[in-house]
Formats: sequence, C-alpha cells, structure tokens
Amino acid sequence: MTYKDLADLIFPNITKTVEDYEKMYPSRNGRVVTRVAPSPTGFMHIGTMYQTLVDYIIAKNNDGIFMLRIEDTDQKREVKEAVDLIYEALDDYKIIPDEYEKNGKMVGNYGPYVQSERKEIYHAFIKHLISIGRAYPCFCTKEELDELRVMQDHKKQRTGYYGKYAKCRNLSVDEMINNIKEGKPYVIRFKSMGDFERKFKFHDEVKGDLELSENDEDFVIMKSDNLLPTYHFAHLVDDRLMRTTHIIRGEEWLSSAPKHVELFNAFGFELPKYVHTPLIVKKDGNSIRKLSKRKDPEATMSYYDNLGYPREAIIESLMTIINSNYEEWHTANPDKVYTDFVYSADKMSSSGGAFYDLEKLGNLSKDIISKKTASKVCEESYEWASKHSESLKELIDRDKDYYTKILNIEREQEKPRKDIVYYSMIEDLIWYMYDDKFESRNKEYEWKNITDIKEIKNILNIYFDEYYNPNDDKDTWFNKVKELCDRLGYASNIKDYKKNPENYKGNVADISTVIRVAITSKSNTPDLYEIMKLLGLDRIKARIDML
Ligand code: GLU
Repeated sequence: MTYKDLADLIFPNITKTVEDYEKMYPSRNGRVVTRVAPSPTGFMHIGTMYQTLVDYIIAKNNDGIFMLRIEDTDQKREVKEAVDLIYEALDDYKIIPDEYEKNGKMVGNYGPYVQSERKEIYHAFIKHLISIGRAYPCFCTKEELDELRVMQDHKKQRTGYYGKYAKCRNLSVDEMINNIKEGKPYVIRFKSMGDFERKFKFHDEVKGDLELSENDEDFVIMKSDNLLPTYHFAHLVDDRLMRTTHIIRGEEWLSSAPKHVELFNAFGFELPKYVHTPLIVKKDGNSIRKLSKRKDPEATMSYYDNLGYPREAIIESLMTIINSNYEEWHTANPDKVYTDFVYSADKMSSSGGAFYDLEKLGNLSKDIISKKTASKVCEESYEWASKHSESLKELIDRDKDYYTKILNIEREQEKPRKDIVYYSMIEDLIWYMYDDKFESRNKEYEWKNITDIKEIKNILNIYFDEYYNPNDDKDTWFNKVKELCDRLGYASNIKDYKKNPENYKGNVADISTVIRVAITSKSNTPDLYEIMKLLGLDRIKARIDML
C-alpha cells in the first residue's frame, strides 16, 4: 500500500487537486491584499479592531483589497450571533471590506470567506500532503498525549509531538490503513522535516529580521471531530488561495510562524509578508499588562458602544497607537481622514505592546464632540439613545429642536465647551432643562457662599422684578447683574472686591451663583444667559417659586 492509497482512503470523494484550486484562484497581479480574520467568539476584542484598521489602511494606501474572513473552524466555541456581531461592528465603523460573505451572499471571487464552508478545499490540500508522505493520521488518544506531556515536563524537555515522541509517524502505511479500517479515531498531523536546533531567518515587517528555530513538531492540521483544519493549516490554504500579500495578525502568532514557514515550503508556495502587531496593553498600578476581556471592560468593543463614544474617537485613539507619528500627522492635516494616513510598519511599537489609555480616548472624544454641530450631536446621540437609552430618547422625542438648542449652548464657537465625552453622559448634563425632571429630582441646591434663604429670595425677587429682561443682549444682561450687585452691597468688580473684601457682602460671582443655582440647582453649568433664554421667564419664575 502507498501514501496515495492512504490519501484515497481518507478522502475518497476529493477529486480536485491543489493545482485545480491554484487555477481557480489566480494571482492578483501584484495587488496588495489584506484580510482580517476574526473568530466568532461572541464579542469583538479591541485588538481585532486595531488589526482591522491596519488591514484597512494598508489596503487603502496601496489601492489594494481588504477582505473579511470568518474563522469558524473551532465550532465548539462558535456562537451564532457572534458572526453578525462582527459584521455589525465593521458596519458601525463604516469599514466596508472589498470581499466578504454575508447571509450566504458572497462579494468577491476568492471565497467562500467563511472557513467552515471551505472544508473540501482544505481536504484537497491535506490529501496532497498525505499522498507525498508529508502528513499522516495519528491515532494517539488524549490520555497518551497527556502522559507524553507529563513525562516531558518531568524530564524538563520541550513539550510537544516531535522527533522520537511523534509515535504515529513511524507506523507503516499498512498499519495506518488497518487502523482506519478498524474505525480508530484519528487526527491528521503534518510530518515535519525541521530541526529545532537549526535557525532560519524570518522577516517580520514590524519586528524586523529575526532568527527563529525551525519547526520540528508534527502538529495537527485536521481535527477529528469536525474534520476541519486547525488554524495553522487554514492560514496556509486560505491566505494562499485568497492571494493575501500581508498577514496582519497579533503578536501571539509569532511563535507559530516556524510552523507556517514549513507548511508554505512543503507546498513550494511563496511566503506572504508578515506584520505581527503588538498586543494592546494598559497600565495597572505600577505594572503594564495585556488588556484582558475578563478584567477590563474596555477590552471589548461593546463597552464603547454602550457608553456612546463617537466612532471616530475610537478610530483616532487606535490610530495613535498604530503609528507613533499619527497624531502629529493629523494635527498637520486636520481636514484629512484617517485612511489618507500612510501606515509604516517601522512606526509601530515593536516591543512592549501598544499602550492604550482611556483617559487619552476621553480627551480625544471630548474634543471631537465639541467640534460637531449641535444638530450632528443631536442626530448621533439620538441614534445611540434609540439603542441604549429609553429615557434620553424620550427626552429628544419631546422636542428635537429644543434639545438641539440645549446642545448648542457654547457650541459652534472658537472655544466650544468640552463637557461631553460620550453620549450616555448627556442626560446627566441637561436634565434640569426639563421641568418635570427638575421638579422630580431630589434637588440638592448647590448653594455656595450665600446660603441664607432669606437673602437668596431677596436677591432673586429684586433681580427678576426690576432687572431681568429676556430681550436683553448678553452684555446688557451682565451689566444689569452688576447693577444689582452695587445696589445690594456686593462688589460688581472682582478686583475691587479682592482689594477690600471687608467692604462688601460678597461679589458678582456670588450673585450669579445664586441665580444659577436657583434655576438649575447646580453651581456649575454652561452659559447662564443662554440657559435663561432657553427656559424663558415663566418657567424661571415657576422654579423660583419652588424655593
Ligand atoms: N482567527 C485568528 C484570530 O482570531 C486570526 C489570526 C490571523 O489573523 O491570522 O486570532
């Protein structure tokens, strides 16, 4: 019996060959091709978004092709909605792949783009390897493999199925065939020709020229339960046939690169370029560690969605950790979009991880929101509220125009206010502009220097009876507040007050605070003049009567 008989026994129905597939998916004539290849795990890690951006930008920079491939070979873990979640996340961020597959509809000629639909293709490649003696069925049981690991650990040896420990590689073809015919379960392993003691040169676009040990492991390429390939083998087949030119993937895969190199060599395929991206890390006390889904809510994209960060803030913050010169570039080119930026691998952190900082994101986000028009903030916050906050949605629905006017206070000016970091903050910043909210909240008036309620009422009565006129412009309005100060023994000029505080009951800031707190209950609000105009005299008076 020959290897070919073995290959036919294992894959009797596979008739297409590697060459057939090579012809079906021809070379793309030098075009740059990138892909993001998430596994549907039920959440989108921020690291996946980070890599997506690198893929997307490299493709955009080079007039290339960006693909989305779903890596669902680990079907135990797969969650049905998890696939939709990936599409939605990219949609939300307006990152539209050139090639992908959604609800059975394929865009692009190099699919299927979902690994579980590529079984036959993988089998053809595995069949080829078996027929040339570079892959074989392994019948070792889980217990045997556990024992092997324990023994290797005990002897302080490298663990794994390699060299003399790769028991099944020594079975004769007849023995293999008999075992299969007897129905013994098996996986398919690659037959390595490597020598761990030997080094080879490996170029990574981020890390530069490296010397790595050759692979000598007979690693699994096809699993027994679902007959799907492992990551290593799927990477070879998919990225070869999809003609991927740049493999952008997390640094955790670098240690597997020797396996991939040996696989590509076994088929005589040219290696793609590898771009191993740094892990996203954060500061935790005095140490720096990897962002973890378990410990850090900000590790998943839904965190940002739930809070309502504008999407461009997330993109900006990731771009700043993708390339160290991004911020400088964007400051110099404020009108350009991030896809205009030219990515360079050598500007990517090559050791120690990419340092991610929520505070920085917060500052970026505040800045971005402050530059939006009120109607844009209205639109985006409404979209957010429709998914995440019934109560904000209800407030907006009452009167969009009024809501927009509230948002417009101290906006659309040279130094706009920067108090909104994400949309879920808005309700907390504006609730007092709605009478029912103002009435029903347990108002803790934030009085400051003036706390005597008799004095407070006196100030307010005189002010509203004799001074306040809703038609006044801002200067007139403020001058009147000052006149009130002079009349009641408060300094209308802060400098005068500072020189001789004993001559006054207080100053103009104290009077403004009384008016502000009476109307809003808060001592710190955006422009009081604008707030008063928006509320109107009747509503203001009703609030004052509540004191
Ligand atoms: N499915 C792999 C992952 O999620 C993809 C790695 C790669 O991009 O090759 O880590």
